[in-house]
Amino acid sequence: MTVEAHLLTEELAILDSLKAFCRIESVSADPGYADGIDEAAAFVAGALRQAGFPVVEVIETGGHPAVYAERCERPGAPTILIYGHYDVQPPDPLEAWRSPPFAPEVRDGRLYARGVSDDKGPLLLPIKVAEAFHRLEGGLPLNVKFLIEGEEESGSPHFAPTVARLAERLACDVAVSADGAMWRDDLPSVLVAGRGLVALEVTVTGAGKDLHSGRHGGSAPNPLQALVALLATLHGPDGRVAVPGFAAGALPPDPAIAAAIRAANIDPGAYFDQIGAPRPDPLPSAEELLTRQWLEPTLELNGISGGYAGPGTKTVIPSEARAKITCRLVAGQSPDTAFAAIAAHLDRHAPAGVRVAVHRHGPGSDAFALDPGLPALRVVEEVFAEVFGRPPLRVAMGATIPVPAVFQRHLGVGTVFFSFSTSDEDYHAPNEFFRLANLRRGLVAWARLFRRLAA
Ligand SMILES: [Zn+2]
Repeated sequence: MTVEAHLLTEELAILDSLKAFCRIESVSADPGYADGIDEAAAFVAGALRQAGFPVVEVIETGGHPAVYAERCERPGAPTILIYGHYDVQPPDPLEAWRSPPFAPEVRDGRLYARGVSDDKGPLLLPIKVAEAFHRLEGGLPLNVKFLIEGEEESGSPHFAPTVARLAERLACDVAVSADGAMWRDDLPSVLVAGRGLVALEVTVTGAGKDLHSGRHGGSAPNPLQALVALLATLHGPDGRVAVPGFAAGALPPDPAIAAAIRAANIDPGAYFDQIGAPRPDPLPSAEELLTRQWLEPTLELNGISGGYAGPGTKTVIPSEARAKITCRLVAGQSPDTAFAAIAAHLDRHAPAGVRVAVHRHGPGSDAFALDPGLPALRVVEEVFAEVFGRPPLRVAMGATIPVPAVFQRHLGVGTVFFSFSTSDEDYHAPNEFFRLANLRRGLVAWARLFRRLAA
């Protein structure tokens, strides 16, 4: 029997194993679930041992443990590093679930459970495929390593240092992420770009203490007023960032993404309806909307504080005002350069009579942009085209995905996304589900990916 045929006969057993994985309450954000975290790490390690991996280790990271495994018995064949995570989002609000979040249930061709789509289902696929190769062929067609973390849903605070520390052991030709999601159920897609991030805070200070607006109004500086005037210089009338040097180094996107944007042809009016915002007049075109979401940098004001915002009125001139800002960055832009450009801009435009201080939060993240010519990307596209019956679109996403940037920096390799979840599967929300059709497709697809990457 071929590996693919064997996998299809094993489908029910694999589904049972996925249910067992989903019964484990591995919520990373809440210390109350610490037992579930340990249990899930042990489950993954056990599944990898059962799949024939001679090296399987639960690795201390300083936070929740990671699981590392390797089977490298093919000298001369390529080595891939498969990434995924065993932790899940908190299940709240519990009352919104039709079946309990940690009691997996099949309804209408979908398996419902917290974490089933993000990332337990997609992660179990390559492990079960490795097991099938082990049973039928006594080994894998290429060298395979796994690094599975337990803090993805909590911002992966120990992931980069762990990868840096283990860089030698993690050495590979390409990373393959079993995490991430296809953009739409009706259009297979492969993620090739995501935006980076830099965060900062601006503080404007006037007088040494809050002042009475009757006694001092008109003569004393008002930091809130100065702050809003200053913030108003950050964008042009079209909403784009107007800070000189902010986009220094930005690279043009892969033209295939622009083609995907045209092919996707979303409905801009429906988009504004869905987020509950009034439709702008004129409405942007579908192309402009997705281009701005995926491929342009942003600077967002996330919060402004200062003075009095409680009930009633208070005739105060505040001594201080603050704004929190985060920026999404595109490929080629550096968090350092973008921050320096904003800080210099704010300094240049500081209104007279106040002090302006700019503070950066954390190192930020580079954008992710996969080399469009990467051979593994072509293989992924080929396999997707076969199992979905149509070639996938190359898509970007507006959000920040740190894992590929970490692998690029510390291992010097690109990351291809090979995930079988879809972004409508309510991960991070009640009633998360995973399509059983994609479980089946995913098993066949991973088997083909192993073979083709080996060739
Ligand atoms: Zn995930």
